[in-house]
Amino acid sequence: MALLVQKYGGTSVGSIERIQAVAAKVAMAHSQGEQMVVTLSAMSGETNRLIALACQLNDQPSAREMDVLVSTGEQVTIALLCLALQKIGVEARSYTGGQVTILTDSVYGKARIQDIDGHRIRADLEAGRVAVVAGFQGVDVDGNITTLGRGGSDTTAVALAAALKADECQIYTDVDGVYTTDPRVVPDARRLDVITFEEMMEMASQGSKVLQIRAVEFAGKYAVPLRVMSSFVDGPGTLITLEDNDQMEKPVVSGIAFNRDEAKLTIRGIPDQPGVAAKVLGSISEANIEIDVIVQNVAKDNSASITFTVHRNDLQQTEDLLRAIAKDLGAEEVNTDSKIAKVSIVGVGMRSHAGVAARMFECLAGEGINIQLITTSEIKIAVVIEERYLELAVRALHAQYELDS
Ligand code: ADP
Ligand code: ASP
Ligand code: MG
Repeated sequence: MALLVQKYGGTSVGSIERIQAVAAKVAMAHSQGEQMVVTLSAMSGETNRLIALACQLNDQPSAREMDVLVSTGEQVTIALLCLALQKIGVEARSYTGGQVTILTDSVYGKARIQDIDGHRIRADLEAGRVAVVAGFQGVDVDGNITTLGRGGSDTTAVALAAALKADECQIYTDVDGVYTTDPRVVPDARRLDVITFEEMMEMASQGSKVLQIRAVEFAGKYAVPLRVMSSFVDGPGTLITLEDNDQMEKPVVSGIAFNRDEAKLTIRGIPDQPGVAAKVLGSISEANIEIDVIVQNVAKDNSASITFTVHRNDLQQTEDLLRAIAKDLGAEEVNTDSKIAKVSIVGVGMRSHAGVAARMFECLAGEGINIQLITTSEIKIAVVIEERYLELAVRALHAQYELDS
């Protein structure tokens, strides 16, 4: 008898009919003798709807109240799925994060799971019941409701699978696996049978939102067998594996990720001296703003400039901080640009190949696309370009690395 954790995303529970379809899938696995733990997202669009309601009342809503609000979406779907299961004769019980207990830290809006108490769920499984757990939410030591960041139900699923030592964690979504790139942008993208945790981490961190990055991180750390599959059509999906036994056969580039969520800031005419970069970037990190790409240049007159990117939501706050620092340092100017995008090629095969970057840059040059910033890791090359060229760049690179199906 296997223990399965299944997670169904927003579109998979987006209507009464879809919830009935999920109930039928769960009932089928349950009737075959599997022990079933199911975790759900809110109905598609619901989390955004709740956020928009809050913003109508208060343009700077408190993070604590936002978590109380947005966690309600998942409470609706877990109850509805249990009702649908009970209607077809399957015993099921729903749990909020607080009822499980899924203990997190107190960072509202991006809380991290610290511990999961599995005893109530185990009791259900032993009694032959299906346990249905609200995704995306937890509770801190003081009993405050917390949420895990957008897309956080993926992380709930993987954390439950790790805590319960599940045989597999299955992420059911609206695509039938992880593709070479977002199939909505490149219709010729190919489904991958397997992808390594390392590659999936890079893909997720570079913008492929098919899995939340923390879910991949967790699955790698606790060696949770993880599979992405469709709730709409049957198929094997994509298995995320610890190791790729077939490295020799690996293509240089396995996938292309992109994101439109960043903005670029530049501070010019600062002293080229020890401690200046620390001062500029330190005060931004202290404000809990994550900095992504960073480039420093020194001009002929020995003055320096620093360019870096942050999430677009953090642009205003970062600009305010940077202007204050600029004043302090007597800098010449501060510029910002939010019409940028980042495109990344990812692949463990890069380790054993030379000339991967040159080929990427030539391909973009061939399309007349100017590269503004470059950053690399062992298995990734990312470039920042003008946003309007994003789709062109992704399609050209997808073809360049022979990823088209
Ligand atoms: P869910 O609501 O089920 O969590 P998401 O919208 O979060 O679903 O994730 C699924 C979506 O991720 C797909 O519809 C697809 O557009 C997008 N996506 C982005 N990159 C990829 C990729 N490399 N492979 C598959 N899907 C991707
Ligand atoms: N409902 C949450 C969101 O929209 C969590 C999730 O879907 O995973 O981000
Ligand atoms: Mg998702």
